[in-house]
Amino acid sequence: MKTRIIKEKYKIEEIRPQEEYNKYIQLIKDDIEQIFNDNAGTFIKQCPACGSRESSFKFSKYGFVYRECSTCSTIYMTPRPTIEMLHNFYANSKGVKYWNSSYVQNTKSRIENVYKTRARWIKESIEFSSNSSNSYLDYYPKYSPFIEEISNLKLFNKLVAYKPFESVMQAISKSKFEIRTSIIDEKFSVISAFEVIDRFFDPKDALKTIYSLLEDNGLLFLSTTSASGFDIQYLLKNAKNIIPPINMTIFSIEGITKALTEIGFEIVEMSTPGTLDLQIIEKQIKDVQLPKFLKDIITNRDNSVKESFQEFLQRAKLSSYMTILAKKRK
Ligand SMILES: [Zn+2]
Repeated sequence: MKTRIIKEKYKIEEIRPQEEYNKYIQLIKDDIEQIFNDNAGTFIKQCPACGSRESSFKFSKYGFVYRECSTCSTIYMTPRPTIEMLHNFYANSKGVKYWNSSYVQNTKSRIENVYKTRARWIKESIEFSSNSSNSYLDYYPKYSPFIEEISNLKLFNKLVAYKPFESVMQAISKSKFEIRTSIIDEKFSVISAFEVIDRFFDPKDALKTIYSLLEDNGLLFLSTTSASGFDIQYLLKNAKNIIPPINMTIFSIEGITKALTEIGFEIVEMSTPGTLDLQIIEKQIKDVQLPKFLKDIITNRDNSVKESFQEFLQRAKLSSYMTILAKKRK
């Protein structure tokens, strides 16, 4: 299995513009009150990654409770909104609409550091076999710059947007992407699922659907937040990238590995190419209880030490943003 190490330097504000992000979080808090109206949904009794029934309370945030699986350390929300509640939430959430909007997403820095990076990763990783249909499906697309980047690659014979969000409709209309809301008798060579898998009531079920939509040896490109990540492990409810009810399942490295291999995927590449863990902890140092060893690295050592430590986190797959390239085994 391959692991990529990324040394690009940018600041958290560049990919997560602070003012906009704070507004997004405030809107989500309002949405929760208005849309869910104190209904927390249904309990799940098994870890959505590995199926274990053993778990312990981890933290609560905006009224939602997160537990940690005692077997694989995946952090998951339970009770969680039902499929119907989620459908209603995504249809009506002002926060989601705001964050997905071009106003927030089409910034130069997000295009460079998020969307171009993803498109380049796909381009560099694919190899089509002779009997492949060279087709591509994006699973629940929501950000228009990514639709544009994939269109610009001109790598695929067919481009499909599966259940796209309202925010990408305009970009899709200007591209060669076809929209599908259901798929019958169609298989794809490549499927991408960026920042979606943690949002499903049953994420393993979504991964099974993706598996069934892939050709043999077809590739899945996935990104999600990792519970094994350094900043998440210490910040917990103060982690700004855990926003209920959006992030319901925070997979650990071990949890997602088990889920994918059980379904029939072979993991070709697994990386945590995050470059921001130390920066994030440093900014929120008042919110965390760090052992002296880590506090020394963050507050008393110079930038070269911090960069080395961040690189170590990537090598150890302990940064909080994970990317996975998985292949459908025959
Ligand atoms: Zn588990």
